Amino acid sequence: MSTTKSAIIIGAGFGGISLAAMLGKQGYQVDVYEKNESIGGRARVFGDQGYTFDMGPSWYMMPDVFEHFFTLMGEDIHEYLTLKKLAPSYRVFLGSTGEHHDFFANRALNAVVFDAIESGAGKKLNDYLDESERQYGIAKHEFIYKNYDSIFDFFNKRVMREGRKLEILNSMQRIIHRTFKSELLRKVMLFQMVLLGTAPKDAPGMYRLMNHVDFDLGIWYPDGGIGELPKAIGKLAEKHGVRFHYNAPVRRIITEQGKAVGVELEDGTNKHADMVVSNADLHHTETALLSPHERDHSDRYWEKRTLAPSAFIMYLGVNRQYDNLTHHNLLFTENWDRNFKEIFNHHDFPTDPSIYVCAPSKSDPNVAPAGHENLFVLVPLSAGVSYDDAKKRLWADRTLSILQNRLGLADLEKHIVYKRVYCAEDFSHDYNSFKGTALGLAHTLGQSALWRPNNISKKVKNLYFVGSYQNPGIGMPICVISAQNVYKRIMNISSPHPLTSL
Ligand SMILES: Cc1cc2nc3c(=O)[nH]c(=O)nc-3n(C[C@H](O)[C@H](O)[C@H](O)COP(=O)(O)OP(=O)(O)OC[C@H]3O[C@@H](n4cnc5c(N)ncnc54)[C@H](O)[C@@H]3O)c2cc1C
Repeated sequence: MSTTKSAIIIGAGFGGISLAAMLGKQGYQVDVYEKNESIGGRARVFGDQGYTFDMGPSWYMMPDVFEHFFTLMGEDIHEYLTLKKLAPSYRVFLGSTGEHHDFFANRALNAVVFDAIESGAGKKLNDYLDESERQYGIAKHEFIYKNYDSIFDFFNKRVMREGRKLEILNSMQRIIHRTFKSELLRKVMLFQMVLLGTAPKDAPGMYRLMNHVDFDLGIWYPDGGIGELPKAIGKLAEKHGVRFHYNAPVRRIITEQGKAVGVELEDGTNKHADMVVSNADLHHTETALLSPHERDHSDRYWEKRTLAPSAFIMYLGVNRQYDNLTHHNLLFTENWDRNFKEIFNHHDFPTDPSIYVCAPSKSDPNVAPAGHENLFVLVPLSAGVSYDDAKKRLWADRTLSILQNRLGLADLEKHIVYKRVYCAEDFSHDYNSFKGTALGLAHTLGQSALWRPNNISKKVKNLYFVGSYQNPGIGMPICVISAQNVYKRIMNISSPHPLTSL
């Protein structure tokens, strides 16, 4: 099929570039205007002094979703990326120095670990995962590739029948607490909710599918780093004529008689197209790029949202290697409930933080100089957190001291030869994020499916929204799905199921 239609996409995050590639393949002339200097949005990459750092995401999950997207584009993902399944998937550190458990995408291996922590938990895990796997199938087929326009799209017979099985009205915390007794195993089963930006007590039961994603589908790594994935999608898009414009922030969406007809760039130039799609954070799109009467949501709406946490991040170059780290490493706080309260409501550094350390140099020799490590250290903290340089230094010292004492990273501070700190204000500055949220809108029930902001403007014709603020939500594969949902809107495809062709 060939058309001469044109589209402007604001932002080169996963949602924007995936949609650009699909529209390009259908013959649209697509121009992507991105405020930053490179592709990927929150999944950008930077390099310094021989170290390569993925700036945001590091967990390559749901490989089936990326594979499906490449197949839709008529391509084989393996011709673009060399993917490795990580084993172990990740390491969880316990209270005393260096003590840890490893978890795998292998039910037999995990059963041994689970049984050692809680007698009989291996069998429980297996039964639980059978159900999670089944629910993943239902969610993919019925829920996440679906556009919701009215209450009847959600409360129709089929969705209600399948939805009951997904325990939509139950919380993840309740489901896991009734299944496992060990505090450690409960944390292992629930930490994925943090990747969705949600406290386990507020995450609806349907997100148990994340346990199937973790324990069955596994955690993967593309050689060269996560940043290779947006680059690959960018290549697909360019193959179909998509033009990327970097360092090109959009100042305003131009509307005429209630229709989006183009954008005005910060440098004052106007660009026109038949439709505009914003991949920028929705709060920014509504409050900065549209006039008040063109917004779908009020200031009050935004103030009442549950925002996913922000993050305190350190990118560290270390002139030695630590054998006690694997690629993904997690240290869970002792007081889980207090930590969740703090990372949603308390605008300071957590009292006893949970810490994530990614060491991609364990899987990839090309991302750090020989014998060195490139460590990505992340502490979740609340959106809207307030701080100054002195506080950031204090938080860095506290985090490093915990890593030395609890993970056993001996003399870590002495071995740091490169350090860059990144926090809430950087998210706002770099991505126009609301209150510095790292991820956007949390996945509470009231902010999922029908209740997540829609991907089509109610007020302005030919204006669409794509990315983590829209259904299905946060995460790289999820934003690739959000692009397919917008594609369905544009092409008038009403099927709720994954596309089988473009
Ligand atoms: C620290 C961190 C860790 C994460 N870890 C994982 C993980 O391990 N696995 C996973 O799957 N997901 C993870 N995520 C989530 C995932 O990265 C995001 O959900 C996803 O990348 C968001 O994609 P998006 O399509 O919403 O676009 P975004 O990445 O939000 O990109 C939007 C783009 O719009 C641009 N933009 C904004 N305003 C304008 C403007 N006015 N003009 C032009 N351009 C503009 C921005 O610069 C940006 O490039 C993580 C995120 C962060 C921040």
